[in-house]
Amino acid sequence: MIRSWTGVFKCAALLAVAFFGAAGGAEAAWVNSDIADFPAGAKAPAYHDDFHRSVNHDWLSKAKIRKGEVRIDSFSERSDEVEAQIKKLFKDRSLNSHEAALVQKFHGMLRDWKSRDRLGMEPVIPYVKRIEAIKDMEGLTAYLTDSRDPHLGSQLFDIGVMADRRDATNNTVAIATTGLLLTDADEYRAKELSPYAKRRKAANDEYIVKLLQKAGYDRKQAETMNEGLFRVENKLAERAMGLKEIYSPAAQAAIYNVRTKEQLTKASANFPLTAVIDSLGYGDSREFVLMEPKWLNSLNELYRPENLEDIKSYLIIRTLLSTANLLDRETRGWAVEHGNAVMGSSGAIPDDKYAYEMVSAYLGEPLGRLYAEKYADPKTKARIEEFIAKVVGYYRNMLHGESWLSESTRNKAVTKLDNLTVRVAYPDKWEDFSALDFKDTKEGGNLVEAVAAIADFERLRDVKLVNTKVDRSKWLADPQEVNAYYSPSDNSINIPAGILGGAFYSPKGGEEELLGGIGMVIGHEITHAFDTNGSQFDENGNFVNWWTEADRKAFDKRSKKISDYFSTLEVMPGVKADGELVLSEAIADLGGLSCVTAIGRGVPGFDFSKFFKAYARLWRNRKTKEAEEQRIKEDVHPLSYLRTNVNVQQIPEFYTAFGVKPGDGMYLAPEERVALW
Ligand SMILES: [Zn+2]
Repeated sequence: MIRSWTGVFKCAALLAVAFFGAAGGAEAAWVNSDIADFPAGAKAPAYHDDFHRSVNHDWLSKAKIRKGEVRIDSFSERSDEVEAQIKKLFKDRSLNSHEAALVQKFHGMLRDWKSRDRLGMEPVIPYVKRIEAIKDMEGLTAYLTDSRDPHLGSQLFDIGVMADRRDATNNTVAIATTGLLLTDADEYRAKELSPYAKRRKAANDEYIVKLLQKAGYDRKQAETMNEGLFRVENKLAERAMGLKEIYSPAAQAAIYNVRTKEQLTKASANFPLTAVIDSLGYGDSREFVLMEPKWLNSLNELYRPENLEDIKSYLIIRTLLSTANLLDRETRGWAVEHGNAVMGSSGAIPDDKYAYEMVSAYLGEPLGRLYAEKYADPKTKARIEEFIAKVVGYYRNMLHGESWLSESTRNKAVTKLDNLTVRVAYPDKWEDFSALDFKDTKEGGNLVEAVAAIADFERLRDVKLVNTKVDRSKWLADPQEVNAYYSPSDNSINIPAGILGGAFYSPKGGEEELLGGIGMVIGHEITHAFDTNGSQFDENGNFVNWWTEADRKAFDKRSKKISDYFSTLEVMPGVKADGELVLSEAIADLGGLSCVTAIGRGVPGFDFSKFFKAYARLWRNRKTKEAEEQRIKEDVHPLSYLRTNVNVQQIPEFYTAFGVKPGDGMYLAPEERVALW
């Protein structure tokens, strides 16, 4: 992935000290200009001292984070353009497809605050009451296995179809944890929550107690229920994988635990795992992949009569959290306040932007079809496809030239590259949404029921894939997304139409802008096929070791040099970057830039200074301190200013283009430079 993604609850942070006060120790070569209240100053630093800040000086001086938002960057600027186009689709009465009807109806309901305020909490109350009415463990099992109940996110595990790792042409069913409100299981296991998690928990507590009171509980009850939720989370976190483990290369093997249904039944003596799986429709799968067997032990220890009230509290609270943004103005306002407390934003985004984001979140696919049909240019798609073929050609040369690899591993890497599936702009065929519908407010419907219908539609669609072959024409991204992806399970790069604009791509730009922009994005995604995770999958997407032992050792050594270098960089006073966390994305950045630089070398009269500046513009970024701390702790992507400075530092042409010399802030001695590819 080229950009980080942040879910509603995957957020938060706190740093109690001022960042740019007198920090002790040696003066860092670069300051973290990603943070919003960094004083930009009147004068730009020299290119050779802090390239990122120098190139982006004007932009950084002027960039303002808008109300209710946590960041401004090249991605958000491009997203504004996409949003403006999509807002026209909401009003376009000439659109008459079923997809348009769904999108416009849902959008209309989101904007209908009068009806929403009239209904208040009413839409979610029946869901809460059903959980509240549970009297004993039999009742709890009956609730969880009731296939007519959409549960609104209140299950005790997650389930879904995914490609089988042994044979990626087949679908299998994966069983995973539901995730934790404080994201990282390690936080729950620590003797004491970190200041970062404490602050998030305080914001969660306040928000949850308010929601429960509005749902009819008194304050005392609400507080007790919230404590119950935390006890459940503590238990589920006890043996769950922490973020460090999830993001380590070893996780790829650790999460692949094939089980038959009988084995699952045996492994889950208390919790009716297979009965719930049956009720959800996944029961006929030939096999299952249990991602975290130890976590299942915790779930079984939890599923006992003495914990019944806590489990009910957990389910009720998750139901309320998953619907707060679909209720009345007051409840939506609390969701905004909670987001602000966690992420350091202030105020709320405008109603029309909120509605746009909600439609994108819940009906992203049908919306994507409307977007692509109206705004995606087939000529751009063709040009980018052609361009990708050129990038792949250079990448092939690069792999052939990797003398640290044995010939056999090198050849296998090239085979993997030659089998790469390339998806650009929008899919050739579209999903069928004709089976999805929900009632408008005028017909007695509401947003909660609409979202329940969408979730049910998606589950049934997923269930149909059980025991089938993987359909590789399927897209992993929506066309309007301003992002890009690599998928190891089908060895594909996915470049949606959304990212084909703004700072990333302009049809009028020169070779330098093309390579420094979308070229870099493409090179980054291709490199994911050969990063610490992707390199564990073969050309068909199977989880197979195609490396000799010596080559893997050499790979690990080169990787370690990269993560070690990142870990030396101070990103806030007293805080170093987490080199292990960002390693896979750092490898993708370095490989991507290395590849497009090689293409530039072959272009007559190529202006490297222009190229590196275009590249630095990609990563211009300002965000709240809280969002930055979250990124440092939880995000696999290096910080934006490091994505510029660290990467260009490794490229010889950068030194000549800007006259960088020993002693300059950007200088790194040749023997200290890092690269995997
Ligand atoms: Zn990436």
